[in-house]
Amino acid sequence: LGHIDPHAAAGAPAITPAGKAAYWMPFTANRQFKEAPRLVSGADGMFFRTPDGREVLDSIAGLWCVNAGHNRPRIVEAIQRQAAELDFAPPFNMGHPKAFELAERLVQLTPPGLDKVFFANSGSEAVESALKIALAYHRARGEGTRTRLIGRERGYHGVNFGGISVGGMVGNRKVFGAMVAGVDHLRHTHDPARNAYSVGQPAHGAELADDLERLVALHDASTIAAVIVEPVAGSTGVLVPPQGYLQRLREICDRHGILLIFDEVITGFGRLGAPFAATRFGVTPDLMTCAKGITNGCVPMGAVFARDAIYEAFMTGPEHLIEFPHGYTYSGHPLACAAALGTLDTYAEEDLLTRGSRLEPMFAQAVHSLRGLPHVIDIRNLGFVGGIELEPRPGEPGKRAFSVFLDCWEQGVLIRTTGDTIALSPPLIIEEAQLQRVIDTVAAAIRRVA
Ligand code: PLP
Repeated sequence: LGHIDPHAAAGAPAITPAGKAAYWMPFTANRQFKEAPRLVSGADGMFFRTPDGREVLDSIAGLWCVNAGHNRPRIVEAIQRQAAELDFAPPFNMGHPKAFELAERLVQLTPPGLDKVFFANSGSEAVESALKIALAYHRARGEGTRTRLIGRERGYHGVNFGGISVGGMVGNRKVFGAMVAGVDHLRHTHDPARNAYSVGQPAHGAELADDLERLVALHDASTIAAVIVEPVAGSTGVLVPPQGYLQRLREICDRHGILLIFDEVITGFGRLGAPFAATRFGVTPDLMTCAKGITNGCVPMGAVFARDAIYEAFMTGPEHLIEFPHGYTYSGHPLACAAALGTLDTYAEEDLLTRGSRLEPMFAQAVHSLRGLPHVIDIRNLGFVGGIELEPRPGEPGKRAFSVFLDCWEQGVLIRTTGDTIALSPPLIIEEAQLQRVIDTVAAAIRRVA
């Protein structure tokens, strides 16, 4: 792991002007990127490799997904074998054994009661699926007035219409205009005045969950289908829930028959030192989404876990009819299932789903060591996620952090920034010396940019 043969990169094809012109890149400042492209053409263990043979230490697990590190033999072999054996299986009124095997293995990892799993191909699709299950569940039980969906400010739930409607990442919403109707938001839980530099869960703010009671008072519980939150908001800057907040949200949902959805696309599969955030916090939602780490990022896959009672509510009516008219051509794709099974084997063999809890004190100490550097105004952490927030440059939000990102890239470390927060989420196999290199590189970059 981590040894890259620099010669392996020789001859990696450069991108052509025609390629640059043709490719409309996602979530990228296209014009700026194409001036000075940052490319990777290989990866192994903790490192990416660039076409010109540089090694780049991956401190963000690709994009919160490569939890076991890159190029893991069990996963690679599983995908290769599967591609030769069964490349595709129609998912409509058909199946293939690996999807069932994967379902069985996955529900062994979820909190008791979350024993059904529905497959999608991404986090965004998992979110849409969960929202639709919530709406259809209430209708199936004769409570069709429950149509309102509640999200949270500074939430990120992918990019499809349901997800951006319940989401609270302002930049991802405001350019589109129309959203799904009948959506409200809880306030976000970030409170720098009371909780700056919290190590682990902040002490203050559990009462923010009572926003849900206010919405119940406003709309009546009989109109509310579900509330969706990320247990730890990742993409909007690593916002860790205050102590007691998720428990309180659970209690309010129970009181009013509202489904609680955890979006665990980032927090699932060991990121917080437990298989899921639900496990770590001891709060079991009614529906739980995941993606990313389910296949170690190797093949697109997302999933929704549901309580038995939710599944059972659909199992009525004529038995030859499809109970839930929803699914994707690639739901439970054989390659994704094979990759996921190889991933679960790798996690189990190396005890990765709980490694984050054993190393959390070390990780926390490392990220909080950046306190006091120029323009650092807050640091947050939980499990193997850390956020270092910088003071924005006046009139140029996000630019300071982006400059730090570029500097780190030049120094051979890949970090991620969101707004003016640097988010670190390394593969769970990271070694202490590698983490120290990340921290030293980020510190030097912050100083240089200042
Ligand atoms: N939900 C959460 C919490 C996420 O963090 C993400 C992606 O980062 C998504 C949903 C969307 O996942 P995808 O990009 O796979 O569609």
